[in-house]
Amino acid sequence: MDLRFTADELAFRDEVQQFFRIAVPADIRRKCVLGQRLSKPELQRWTRILFEKGWATPAWDPEWGGTGWSPVQQYIFKEELHMAPAPEPLSFNVNMIGPVLIAFGTDEQKRRFLPSIARLDYWFCQGFSEPGAGSDLASLRTSARLEGDHYMVNGQKLWTSTAHHAEWCFLLVRTDPNAKKQQGITYLLMDMRSPGITVRPIVTIDGHHETNEMFLENVRIPVGNRIGEENKGWDYAKYLLGNERSGIARVGISKMRVRRAKELARNIDAGGRPLSEDRGFRERVALLEIELKALEITQMRLISAAAPAGKPDPKSSILKMKGSELQQAAAQLLLETAGYEAMEFDRDFLRGAHSTPSPHDWALTIAPNHYFARHVSIVGGSNEIQRNILAKTVLGL
Ligand SMILES: Cc1cc2nc3c(=O)[nH]c(=O)nc-3n(C[C@H](O)[C@H](O)[C@H](O)COP(=O)(O)OP(=O)(O)OC[C@H]3O[C@@H](n4cnc5c(N)ncnc54)[C@H](O)[C@@H]3O)c2cc1C
Repeated sequence: MDLRFTADELAFRDEVQQFFRIAVPADIRRKCVLGQRLSKPELQRWTRILFEKGWATPAWDPEWGGTGWSPVQQYIFKEELHMAPAPEPLSFNVNMIGPVLIAFGTDEQKRRFLPSIARLDYWFCQGFSEPGAGSDLASLRTSARLEGDHYMVNGQKLWTSTAHHAEWCFLLVRTDPNAKKQQGITYLLMDMRSPGITVRPIVTIDGHHETNEMFLENVRIPVGNRIGEENKGWDYAKYLLGNERSGIARVGISKMRVRRAKELARNIDAGGRPLSEDRGFRERVALLEIELKALEITQMRLISAAAPAGKPDPKSSILKMKGSELQQAAAQLLLETAGYEAMEFDRDFLRGAHSTPSPHDWALTIAPNHYFARHVSIVGGSNEIQRNILAKTVLGL
């Protein structure tokens, strides 16, 4: 098996690199390089640049805005985006609700939502998890009762990331409390301006407000906002989770972290010579790079053999598990390389509220942004759950 890119693929990579070099606005590029967080208007601005170029949603069906690229081209695009670095389009929109609508939505729903999802005119959040329904998602209790032409929804969602930015939410609700738990679930799209929704912030240990709890009290959702059939929501959710998990691998982010650690190590004194020449450091980097290459190859194999639309691919659990472990290992390497320089904590800087002309700018975001991104092994189904899925569906245990 020849794993080298063909001449056409190399030319495509040049084109993508060139685009990222010139198209990312300077202020957004600077924030990406420093690892600062983008505001909603900044991410919208960048998404619209991608949209105008026709590259906002490469993996979608070309009829609905996809590029028609081969799996390898899609892979190259994503990796170059991470390495540039340029902002990643909103995953809730591009990897989650968009593909679900394309696979299971009505033509009317597709026409109504897909262009706004691709341009980030609508920011979607994910209302799946609840207290007592995380790993065991099918135990969710938020109820929806059909009343004429709408559902009346009551319950609580937890960990709803970016709900405070969102215009819409894709939501799992229980419509049949008497059915087997996976069979009584329905998938709805909820307008976040509907009366009865309360969003309360959860501020995480890094001082950042990303995620929320969300209370729903007599929220009316029109029947026309239901995806597919009533009580079939679990099938659509599994399809979405397969996409979410494949998207979490993010080999480019890990590569970018390793590259950064290697750059730093050249200027760090380790007993009279640069850390980059230290045997232990070099072995650790080599091991990580080998594992990343193996993941890269696995990802390309899985993408090439992608399951047909509508069928969740349990093997995406491999990418999720290994990809998140390597992201954590690369962040750990970066943190330990930077040492005490990375310990400073400046929340205003993280938000981009000021841009300290400090010689240690590069280090300020390592702990809070790279290291605390450890939650990748929890979101999208924890890694223990991925192992369970693999044991059952792939190994047949
Ligand atoms: C930062 C962050 C953002 C998130 N954003 C969103 C979001 O936007 N929308 C959303 O819907 N959800 C979101 N989540 C929720 C996420 O999907 C859940 O946290 C995750 O599914 C785990 O559920 P839990 O937290 O209830 O933990 P639990 O399910 O209580 O699990 C606790 C521990 O037990 C282990 N465990 C549980 N069951 C098993 C089992 N059967 N076998 C082996 N081990 C098991 C788990 O692996 C974990 O280590 C987010 C979570 C975090 C941390």
